This record gives sequence, structure tokens and C-alpha cells, in this order.
Amino acid sequence: MMPVAGAHYPRTTGEFLAWFRTDEDCLDYLEWLRWVAGAHYPRTTGEFLAWFRTDEDCLDYLEWLRWPDGFICPGCGHAGGWRLGDGRIKCGGCGARASLTAGTIFDKTRTPLTVWFHACWLFATAKDGISAQHLQRSLEIGSYQTAWAMLHRLRQVLVRPGRDRLAGVVEVDETYIGGEEPGLRGGRQHGKKVLTGIAVEVAPPRGIGRCRMAPLADASAVTLTEFISQNVEPGSTVITDGWSAYPAITGHGYAHKPVNQKAARAAGADPGELLPAVHRVASLCKRWLLGTHQGSVDEAHLPAYLNEFAFRFNRRRSRSRGMVFCRVMELAAGHSPVRYRDLLATSRPRPGQAPPATRGKPPSLDRPPANRPWRGATPIRSG
Ligand SMILES: [Zn+2]
Repeated sequence: MMPVAGAHYPRTTGEFLAWFRTDEDCLDYLEWLRWVAGAHYPRTTGEFLAWFRTDEDCLDYLEWLRWPDGFICPGCGHAGGWRLGDGRIKCGGCGARASLTAGTIFDKTRTPLTVWFHACWLFATAKDGISAQHLQRSLEIGSYQTAWAMLHRLRQVLVRPGRDRLAGVVEVDETYIGGEEPGLRGGRQHGKKVLTGIAVEVAPPRGIGRCRMAPLADASAVTLTEFISQNVEPGSTVITDGWSAYPAITGHGYAHKPVNQKAARAAGADPGELLPAVHRVASLCKRWLLGTHQGSVDEAHLPAYLNEFAFRFNRRRSRSRGMVFCRVMELAAGHSPVRYRDLLATSRPRPGQAPPATRGKPPSLDRPPANRPWRGATPIRSG
């Protein structure tokens, strides 16, 4: 493949600066260099459907993801083994049998891998993600709970341990999110909503980099300082409003730049425009929760939804949605299993309709050709 100027590499310093504004941009480029489109990940839905037709195809992809240079026994470290009839691998050294899904979020799943892969594809490639109800209906998943738990398992893998904190110039603010009710407005008064911290990288003149969001116990100096130290690299410049809790962060290695609402109001400017990046991210997030999830997000699971939103937002300029799929699969194959009862630890799923008594096992998408059933059917009745 011949490298294309302006597509594969920047032609000028201006283009370079525009392409690689944040760590996330650089990471995306490195992934693009590392992963071969059409070989390591499918570029299109057509390619995805052709690649992962059977549960065995999916199992093989999972094996390749985990051991790209061939199987290595997790028990004895021996390289090489063979596949058994039940899908496990038998080690050529110690003879132990290793499950391809053990130690991943697909561990002991009752859901066929074709269904899992399809869910991952929809999750990664749909710009705004997918709701549990939509997933349940489109993949014939027996119960709302199963679809709900699949999406929550995927949300769990998105948070990479030790991920980089935001850096440079970062706007920080708090807002109320969730429990959407018309007429309720933000601010520091208490409503049904959850107080949420937002941090967004900004690059002049109007550039927005990565974001991070997390629920806050309160708007105190201790809580806000903790939120900032968890999400922003020390040495960064933090821009906030004039709230009295923020100046405390200067004692933790941050340069603090408050913007003054009173002065802006006096000058006739809109105080809401003082922190444009956080306000933009907050409104996109609220719209996303209302749109994809119909606002039905409970407080206990809000952190998971905020992480999903940040993952999507931070990859909004990704070169390929198929690459995002590959990234989700890589994270899923490398993430330890998430138990259903841990997802329920704090609250239960709230289905759109009455849940069935049992958690159904969805039918595999690996099935024989249907042989054009419409040809053998009774003709369409007119009228
Ligand atoms: Zn072994």
C-alpha cells in the first residue's frame, strides 16, 4: 500500500498539529499503524458478517486475539497445543485443557459467541451506542436482563487500568446528570439528579480534546480535589468557575485559573459560555442519555454510562469504526470475567416491560441458510 499524503501522514506542521492534538489522537494513529484494516479487523458490516458467520469463526478470532503468535499454556508456559472437540485447547506440554474464553468477559457465557460478537459490533460501530432493549430485540435475546448484562459487561472493559489522565489546559465543572425531568435545572441545588464532575481538555481557539466524567458525593473542596487528582495530570492548568472549593487544588500541583461569572455578567456576556468545553460535553452527554437510553439510567449505574460516553466521545475522530470494534474485542479478551451478581450489587436492571422469570439463552446466529422461505409461503394477499 502506498502511503497517501494527508491521509496516512500529515503533509505540514499545521496538519501534524491538527492531527495529533491529544494522547487519544496519537493512540488512535498507533492502533491504525498496528492493526491492518480488512485483516485484523473488519472494515464494514459486510466484512463483519462474512468473517463471523459461525461460533467457531468467533472462537478462532478470540484465540488469535489472545495468542497472535500461537497458543502458550497459561499453566506451564509451553508453546503449542491442539484444539479439542469442545473448543478447548490441550497443552502439548502438561496436557492441561485451557478454555479459550476463560479469563475473559466471555467466560462461562451461555450466550453464543456469534451473538456476543454481533453485540460488540453494534456497541462499537453505532455512533451513539445501543440500548439493552434494542439489543434484546435485534438479536433475539431471551430476556432483557441478559441483554442488559451484556452491555454492562462491555462498559466494564472500557476503563483501562492506569489510563492516562487528562493534561495541558483542562476545564473542570460540576453539573447534575440523570433523572431527567422537564423543568429541573442544573446548579448546585439538590434535585433527583446526580452531581457529576466533568473535566475536558481544551486547546485554543475552540478545540476540545478528551473528557472524563464521574459522580461526586458533594461539591466540597475535598471531593473536587480528589476528582481532579484522579482525572487530571499534575502540572496541568485547571480552568473552573468562581466556586470557593476550587482554589484548594493549587496545593496539589495544579495551576488554577478561575473565570469570573460576576465580571462576565456585568460585562453583558453569557456566564454559561465561560466554560464552553464542559458545557458542550455536558449537554452532549445529557442528550445521549435521553436519546439512546431514554433517560432511564439509575444512579447506581451512572458511572458505567459516563465511562461509555467518555469512551465514545474520546474516539469520535477515530479513523475507523471497525478499529473501535477491534479495540473493544481486545479489551474484552483481556478483561477478567464480570459476574452477573456483581453487576447487580448495587441495583437491579429496570426493564422496559415485565421481565420473564428466567434468563433465556439466545439462539446462536450460526445457522443454516434459510433457502428463501418467501418462495414456499402462501402468496401475499392483496389489500
Ligand atoms: Zn501446559
